[in-house]
Parts: sequence; C-alpha cells; structure tokens
Amino acid sequence: MGATLAAGFPARLSAATGLSLTEAQLQAGREFLTRHPSVDVHAHPGRFFLRDAVQTDAVKALGAPAEAQVLTDMAAGGVTAALFNCVSDASLLGFTPAGGLAPVREFQPGEAWAEYQRQIGLLKALAARGDVARGFTRADIGKALAAHRTAAVFAVEGGDFIEDRLDRVHKAHADGVRSITIVHYHPNQIGDPQTEKPRTPGLTPIGRRIVKEMNKAGVVVDLAHASFGVTKDAVAISDKPMMISHTNLKRADLDHPRLVTPEHARLVTTHGGIVGSVPSGIGQATVGDWIASILRLIDAVGVDHVAIGTDMDANYRPVFTDYRDWGVIPAALMARGLSEAETAKVMGGNFLRIFPA
Ligand SMILES: [Zn+2]
Ligand SMILES: [Zn+2]
Repeated sequence: MGATLAAGFPARLSAATGLSLTEAQLQAGREFLTRHPSVDVHAHPGRFFLRDAVQTDAVKALGAPAEAQVLTDMAAGGVTAALFNCVSDASLLGFTPAGGLAPVREFQPGEAWAEYQRQIGLLKALAARGDVARGFTRADIGKALAAHRTAAVFAVEGGDFIEDRLDRVHKAHADGVRSITIVHYHPNQIGDPQTEKPRTPGLTPIGRRIVKEMNKAGVVVDLAHASFGVTKDAVAISDKPMMISHTNLKRADLDHPRLVTPEHARLVTTHGGIVGSVPSGIGQATVGDWIASILRLIDAVGVDHVAIGTDMDANYRPVFTDYRDWGVIPAALMARGLSEAETAKVMGGNFLRIFPA
C-alpha cells in the first residue's frame, strides 16, 4: 500500500508513546498491512453515531462527529475493516461523579428502536455514498484489502433495540449488522453490565433466546461490558464463537470493572472465540503500555484468540488516537518477537475466522 500510507506517520510518534522502534521496524509494520487484512473489532469511527443525536452532556463531551477525516485516516493507515458500532443506549448516558459513563434515565416507549434506525441509517448512508466499502462478508474484506480501502462491518453496542422482538435480530442482519454487544452500560432486557450492581445472576430468559437467535442469524455475540454471569450463560448456550471486543486483563496491581480476569477471558475462547485488547487509559498511559497488554492477553488465552478493538473515536482517555498510526501495532508486535503469521492472526485473521461466512 506504500504510497497510500500517510507520509508523516513516523514523525508524529513521540517519545511519549513508550515505544522505541527503528525506522526499519516501522516500515515493516506498514508493509505488513499491504499483505494481511487488519480489522479493528470494535470502533465508532469519527463518532458517526452522534450525527443528529440529541445533545446530552455525555454526547457533547464525546465531541462532534468527524467521519470524513477519520475515514480518510483509516484508508491512509491501512485499516482493512472495522466494526462500525452504533450505540443503542447513547441517549440514556450521563457521567457518574467518578467520571465514568452510566445510564441516567430509562428509554421512552419506542425510543430504543427509533435510535437504532437513526444510527443504522447513518451507516447505510456512509456506504451508499461510497465513503466506506461494505463489509458484509469475508469476501468483502478481501476486496477492501486488494483495493486499499476500509470496509465497514456494521455492528451495534447494546442489544436494547431488540427489546423482546426476536425478529429484530434478523432485521438487523438484513440491515448488514454482523455483531451485537448484547449489554452496554444500561442494564437491559438481556442481562447486566459489568459496571453495575447485578440484578440477575446471568442471562434473562429473553436474553437466552436472543443469544440463540443471534447464533442462528449469523450475528456475532459480543460480550464486552457483560457481567461474568452473563458471559458464563452465553458461553454455555452458544454454539458459535463469540468475542469480548474491547477489554484488557486485570492485574495484581490493577482492578477496574471494565477489565476481566484471565478465567473470564479464557471462557470466551471456548468455542474458538476472541478477546480484543483496547487502548484505553485504564492502567495504560502509552502505546507501549497497550502493546504490553496485548502480549499479556496472548500469554493468557493464546495467539489464536487475541484481536485489536480500539473503541475509537469514543474511547475513554485513549492511549492510541490516530488510525494513520495503525502500522505501529504490527511493527511493535513483530519487534517484541511475534512472527509475521502470529501478528496476522492478532491484526485480523482471528476475527475473520469467527466472522460468519
Ligand atoms: Zn464499549
Ligand atoms: Zn464502544
């Protein structure tokens, strides 16, 4: 992809990234991306979902949408595909006194479905305008790699919009949705998030039916944000690989409700599932810290089960912020001793394995 990669990218890296990569290693990272599909398994590029959103304090704090710039950056950086996530409960969210996100009200009747339709309409418009390539199938992603474009895999963070209507799982699939994070910040009809005191031990009865329906429809179950109980139940009843798209491991010196234990992470790899590492500010201050988190995850669950899920551009205090630097990730992984084949698994191969055919 050489010439299409952003010219200034190594120059923008500062010592603050916590990496010491040579120009040759950075170049190897950029060239890697021309040979292997790379996938951001959890993203909100340019905060597309906030266009025409009701301006709550949380929405204002996230910042204005900037899809055009970010889509240009993704193609320039060599991102083959990303899961473009709508956010089901975006209109409910506010800040806790500690600065975290939490729901501050309940949905009005019909609101969750209307919000889904507004946001999926934005994604369809991006694809219809040709601003992104469609990422409905594995073949679409192969085509995007060959054309040096970025494919949008439609996804939704929060299964709230499904309500108790199993037909909406199939409607979402028909809209192009290939993954749903079943629980986000709002405790919903499916189960509880890891950031709230649980109301139920695991999946609710309708939550179990929704997980099975997603298996049937070919929509990947994303267990990011889900409580350990929800995760255990989903793993027990699912016959398809699932993922935790954006998290990291707890450590002896680091605990946070959004992080998971090695046991929790390993559970999700049961059916061949994957765990995406997120460059958030939780226990990480630099890109170097994030690379260390990715390697820790590989040690815990194996290189066949790790992926990259940036949560850009709605990440809370991110340590990686610019898709033009995407090549730094494979460069750093290879510099730390991963082979090219192992790096290809983490950068996209593992996701493509679980992407419904
Ligand atoms: Zn999230
Ligand atoms: Zn997200």
